[in-house]
Amino acid sequence: MRAKGLVFTAAMMMAALAAQAQQTAHKWTIVVHGGAGVIQRVALGPEGDAAYRKSLEAATMAGAKILDAGGSSLDAVEATLKVLEDDPLFNAGRGAVFSAEGKNEMDSSIMDGATLRAGAVAGVTKTRHPVSLARAVMEKSPYVMMVGPGADSFGSKQGLEQAPPSWFFTESRWQSLVKQLTKEGRPIPPRPEGVPPAPGATVPVALYDEGADPRSHGTTGVVALDRQGNIAAGTSTGGMQGKMPGRVGDSPIIGAGTYASNDSCAVSATGTGEYFIRLGVAREICNLVKFKGMKLQAAADEVIHHELETLHGDGGVIAITPDGQTAFSFNTPGMFRARLTEGGKITVGIYNDEQ
Ligand code: ASP
Repeated sequence: MRAKGLVFTAAMMMAALAAQAQQTAHKWTIVVHGGAGVIQRVALGPEGDAAYRKSLEAATMAGAKILDAGGSSLDAVEATLKVLEDDPLFNAGRGAVFSAEGKNEMDSSIMDGATLRAGAVAGVTKTRHPVSLARAVMEKSPYVMMVGPGADSFGSKQGLEQAPPSWFFTESRWQSLVKQLTKEGRPIPPRPEGVPPAPGATVPVALYDEGADPRSHGTTGVVALDRQGNIAAGTSTGGMQGKMPGRVGDSPIIGAGTYASNDSCAVSATGTGEYFIRLGVAREICNLVKFKGMKLQAAADEVIHHELETLHGDGGVIAITPDGQTAFSFNTPGMFRARLTEGGKITVGIYNDEQ
């Protein structure tokens, strides 16, 4: 009897240890981007360089904190994107670029690799955190995607914070729009209501000018792996500066700008959205991993450096797999990016000659 009892106890202990091992089998990892484009040392300068690195690190740490406390990759993705959306340096939420009519029309999406649930919003103008609205669409509605005023009003009913145009407005982005429209001979829209009057000669200069080159991007994206082995992806953007009102890019398109499946990988993209939609970039990378058994970096490079370049498209991706592989791939001079794995040191990069 006694021996039997001992065997039982030992078995129970082994099961408990196995369960614990299962829980801690995965080291968490988070990968962040703040857009790819013509980002060069001379243009950014030491001040801009330092400001972006600091912001990327702060956003990454917000997600890392959640993962380190045993939180989900989905929560980490949302929390990190919220920090980036509030940061005027990035083209998402506050600091989003303007459409040709002088409005901030924002797009976002989020996807849970464990369940394949997804949520997306496009052309929203009032919700402070478009990524949280995308998540609300995923969790609180029967839909995957909502657009425009209907999406904002759903967000407001869900208790998500609404903000006036002046919250999203930044003088540097406005000046960047004016510069682009002037150069292209297009009409300059009136300044949005409720924003400070146009400054005189002392116009703030953007640390990174979206309008300086049509191939400039500043979208934000996050992919993460949690200790349970689940991956998730999210993307948030103001889109392309000077876009026609109503234009929607790849960021809120599941399979193009964002995708996550525990079966393959999670991806967030940035670049000229039209190419990413046509190639279904995010899903394409995951398919190469899943069906061709490619390593993540090779799959990402295949799509960015071959398929995208064949179409003369530009931009990049961040990606992660449930077994902890991570990848950056971009064909532009730079991509704002950061990566951190449990127990490791954060790496932040901007230019294409950095690791
Ligand atoms: N992909 C975004 C879009 O086309 C822009 C970007 O990444 O900056 O809307």
